[in-house]
Amino acid sequence: MGMISLRKFIEKINMDMGFTGELRYDEPLALHTTFKVGGPGDLWIRPDAGCFLEYGAFLLHHAHAEGIPVFVLGGGANLVVADQGIRGIVLDTGGWSGLSVTGEEAIIRSGTRIDAALDTLAAHKRGGLEFLAGMPGSLGGALWMNARCYEKSLSDVLVSAECLDTHFQQSLVPYRSEDYSYKQSPFQNQDGLILSVRLRTVPRPEPAIRQEMDRYRLDREHKGHYRFPSAGSAFKNNRNFGKPTGKILDALGLRGLQIGGAAVAPWHGNIIINTGNAQAQDIRALVLHIMEQVQSTLGIQLEPEIRFVGDWPP
Ligand SMILES: Cc1cc2nc3c(=O)[nH]c(=O)nc-3n(C[C@H](O)[C@H](O)[C@H](O)COP(=O)(O)OP(=O)(O)OC[C@H]3O[C@@H](n4cnc5c(N)ncnc54)[C@H](O)[C@@H]3O)c2cc1C
Repeated sequence: MGMISLRKFIEKINMDMGFTGELRYDEPLALHTTFKVGGPGDLWIRPDAGCFLEYGAFLLHHAHAEGIPVFVLGGGANLVVADQGIRGIVLDTGGWSGLSVTGEEAIIRSGTRIDAALDTLAAHKRGGLEFLAGMPGSLGGALWMNARCYEKSLSDVLVSAECLDTHFQQSLVPYRSEDYSYKQSPFQNQDGLILSVRLRTVPRPEPAIRQEMDRYRLDREHKGHYRFPSAGSAFKNNRNFGKPTGKILDALGLRGLQIGGAAVAPWHGNIIINTGNAQAQDIRALVLHIMEQVQSTLGIQLEPEIRFVGDWPP
């Protein structure tokens, strides 16, 4: 589908649905990823909270019917978007934020930033999610990825999620232990949009919550998480490897290895950084190079944790 018809498509939908929010054509997606790489999204659209639910359902439904791809973008904290960008529609959940607390549980809209949610929960004296403090991204992305920090996964505190499938339907997806494992969630195998996440919390005094969160944030700072643009751990850990993936890469002397503007962080084997002017293809080349090295010297098959999305050359 060409740009003109995409424009027509969205203008009609926006008129029908009373769209409010932000919308741009050929938006550089480097502006919306923590790696600071990625070419243009044909159409980047961030609906306001006021219209997000109805609009999102309508958009997904009609885009699906027209064969227009829709990529759901959270905080862009785990993505390498291709230099050629993403075709079709990039639906940014950033406007769909906020949370409510009911008894032991918090219901958090998927576009809510992790730290913003934790901050509000601390003010409500609700703990239990401190382990997520300082992790960039949204709640929707954290559920999709089944994010894991400090030995705890998001699924450990998950009650249920509210979702929209491509057929317009809103559905409740209750937590079932068999659906989740290390960095795996059922959402990875289906199209759709996570609307909200219901998490278990525990009562706790606000200062204790904040102290623990500060500890995690400081630890991340010490580990150099925020020194350069990145997407956190580049590769998944695997118990069968016998040690953390970062240590494996250290042992092979891969720290500091650079291709173009992408480098293995000189201080951490499992963080790939954008040294300033990296292209997405530099990051991909570095990841492939590391995988080949580890495969040929140790016979270990690494699995990237960062996700390569968009329009890659073959
Ligand atoms: C400095 C740094 C430290 C990090 N530390 C950790 C860590 O300790 N542990 C860890 O697990 N990760 C870590 N990460 C990676 C990242 O923060 C997590 O993976 C995070 O959960 C990604 O969320 P996001 O909203 O940015 O998702 P995005 O990167 O925007 O998207 C990730 C995937 O989720 C999908 N998605 C997002 N929102 C929705 C939605 N509402 N509905 C449907 N699909 C959706 C996207 O389509 C995409 O496929 C780190 C990243 C950085 C930059």
